[in-house]
Amino acid sequence: MQFKDTPNREIYKTSIWKSINPTDRAHILLVAEGVKPMAYADMSDLKDIKDYISKELKLFFVEARGRRAWYKTSVGIDLPHRVYTIYKSDKTLRLIQRLWSSNRSNYQDREGELLGFPKCCRKEYSNPTYNKRFNGFILKFFRRPYTFLIQAVKMFLEGREIPKEYLYLMPSQTPCSVECKKSLNLLKVWRELLRKYDPEAAKTLEEFNEYNVLREIKEITTRLKERKITSVQFEKGYIFS
Ligand SMILES: [Zn+2]
Repeated sequence: MQFKDTPNREIYKTSIWKSINPTDRAHILLVAEGVKPMAYADMSDLKDIKDYISKELKLFFVEARGRRAWYKTSVGIDLPHRVYTIYKSDKTLRLIQRLWSSNRSNYQDREGELLGFPKCCRKEYSNPTYNKRFNGFILKFFRRPYTFLIQAVKMFLEGREIPKEYLYLMPSQTPCSVECKKSLNLLKVWRELLRKYDPEAAKTLEEFNEYNVLREIKEITTRLKERKITSVQFEKGYIFS
């Protein structure tokens, strides 16, 4: 079964939709709108809700993971939910099945492809080039160095900022560089759709990235500034004296 038609966007205004966590809504919405092949999302494990979302947004759920959790809170009950793999087309389902049979060496690349991440970024992730580009002394300031993060810190040291589109990165998405055109174009599309159909989800994703990406960039920048390290010294082969 394959649905090609557009989702019923009235859903995005309902209380059922709002009962899903805003960042999970961002994942689901982008799959429903056909701009992301697959996503993982934590959502209700109640059959009626899943059937309703599936029918109206024209997407499917496979592979439920995690415990079917219920929580009783002071204001009521947090309904049972699990993490689902969400997709929209038969073609994607076949690729998901291929992913499940992948070995460790190509799993990450195939998973990244299904999550919509550009090829150039997946390549940089599996074969990083930062060791060839940046000074080894500088790399020691990074707990987990990768090209995008190092370039972003370099820009902040120069008093510049990274493009605002990067506030729309998905968890685990790593652009190959701060100038990756494919990522910027993709993130622009994601941003527009989220702002248009679910501004709360857009805002929450921005806050997620402010906390997870920007905070790290700013912290490393501060530490480098304290050591009086300049962006010129990032250059491979720069001799510190
Ligand atoms: Zn890229």
